[in-house]
Amino acid sequence: MDMPAPNPAIVAKKSRLVERLKTVLPSDAVISDPLETRAYECDALTAYTCPPLCAVLPASTQEVAAVLKICHEMGVPVVPRGSGTSLAGGALPTADCVILGVAKLNDVIETDYDNRFIRVQTGRTNLSVTGAVESDGFFYAPDPSSQLACAIAGNIAMNSGGAHCLKYGVTTNNLMGVTLVQMDGTIVEMGGAHLDAGAYDWLGLICGSEGQLGVVTEATLRILPKPEGARPVLIGYASAEIAGACVSDIIKAGVLPVAIEYMDRKVIEVVERHAQAGYPDCEALLIVEVEGSPAEIDEQLGLIKQIAAKHDPVELREAADADEAARIWLGRKSAFGAMGQINDYMCLDGTIPVSELPFVLRRIGEMSKEYGLEVGNVFHAGDGNMHPLILFDANKPGDLELCEALGADILKLCVEVGGCLTGEHGVGIEKRDLMNVQFTPEDLEAQMQIKDVFDPDWLLNPAKVFPLQTSASRRNAQSMPV
Ligand SMILES: Cc1cc2nc3c(=O)[nH]c(=O)nc-3n(C[C@H](O)[C@H](O)[C@H](O)COP(=O)(O)OP(=O)(O)OC[C@H]3O[C@@H](n4cnc5c(N)ncnc54)[C@H](O)[C@@H]3O)c2cc1C
Repeated sequence: MDMPAPNPAIVAKKSRLVERLKTVLPSDAVISDPLETRAYECDALTAYTCPPLCAVLPASTQEVAAVLKICHEMGVPVVPRGSGTSLAGGALPTADCVILGVAKLNDVIETDYDNRFIRVQTGRTNLSVTGAVESDGFFYAPDPSSQLACAIAGNIAMNSGGAHCLKYGVTTNNLMGVTLVQMDGTIVEMGGAHLDAGAYDWLGLICGSEGQLGVVTEATLRILPKPEGARPVLIGYASAEIAGACVSDIIKAGVLPVAIEYMDRKVIEVVERHAQAGYPDCEALLIVEVEGSPAEIDEQLGLIKQIAAKHDPVELREAADADEAARIWLGRKSAFGAMGQINDYMCLDGTIPVSELPFVLRRIGEMSKEYGLEVGNVFHAGDGNMHPLILFDANKPGDLELCEALGADILKLCVEVGGCLTGEHGVGIEKRDLMNVQFTPEDLEAQMQIKDVFDPDWLLNPAKVFPLQTSASRRNAQSMPV
């Protein structure tokens, strides 16, 4: 994976830049010591690292605007950062950039139960949004497995999803408004505490824009009343194909569980050792959860169990109580962390039509053998959002490159069967050079013209999303004043 060489003219301006940033921020909010900037050298795609020129931690929208204005005037690239949990390298710095972290922007600004919204600063973690309203019987639906750490800022930038998004939709379906600061420091409001935009759907453009168009500092989020109850069922199968066929049949039947999650044997074994979740010994495991009143739960689970039984499961077990349900989810939510304890891994994020699951899972198994790298599968099966985890050894020469090549082939397969490169993790650097597989040059040109409007000098997160060659002339034309 290539990154553009740092611009020496920008690197040479470091002390002047730091001096100016300290005029608008407290000095401890400007981090420029190379020992300290290492804390920002990567996100959760840890295979790639690069310390930034410096990092700043503003505490208000006005401070964000002041930082951006200075960087704009000095022609310095800026990489926005939430909690740094991106699996696509979205928050990876370049050596000539400022990392703008929003971790200090973490207040709840307003809670309105009558109109069912909460307004927060975007450095607030996903889980603490629900934490702010759950004692009053509400919750914020999008639930990435990283929700304890990841920030609403990154969720908006990546249009993040999670296990329960099958029913509730992903971030874009739960976002009502944002405050956005443009690269020149202009502060803009988009959307608000109402259902639909009055004009163009700017919000739809910002959600998923990966820090390319502006820095989001505040967000109005939809909150929902907590359901009366929920219950998961575990369904074990003897093969990936059978599990895939069962998922396809559940979706076809028109029943809408809140979640259908999938794990293969590799992941089941690792998670079981880590979390003792009580998972069965099988090749493929589904966790299917439904919610509602006890009668609604019984009715939906009855239908799901009927469908599952037709596929001859190794095990079919409904959670007996709240403790067992919590253990089942603890296992699933800790799967990525548990896999990280056994090896380095790269987590992919292709999306496919659900009916293609059996074929794609079989092909991934074959490709894994061809490349000689193990692949564990844990993903949101209900919406066809695959997360193959390719295991590799970062210390073994050539293993990372082999892993990248296998990852590229798997993502190309997702596109070939009618899916797309990313379901919820974003493009970042990880899928940047595969954008040509999914989009024509004309498509990419149209997308880049949108960035031209918001960020004409291409200073915001410039080395991400678009293949380097495709964006070269725009990035190299960066103005270089002051
Ligand atoms: C163990 C683990 C499990 C995960 N599970 C899931 C999952 O289930 N579902 C899912 O969708 N993702 C998942 N992820 C990926 C990751 O958590 C999400 O992409 C998350 O939304 C990133 O949030 P963050 O605050 O850490 O953002 P960062 O990593 O800091 O940044 C991500 C992107 O957002 C941009 N950005 C950050 N702040 C701003 C801002 N204020 N304005 C504009 N752009 C900004 C950055 O430039 C970057 O491009 C997982 C990650 C890990 C490590």
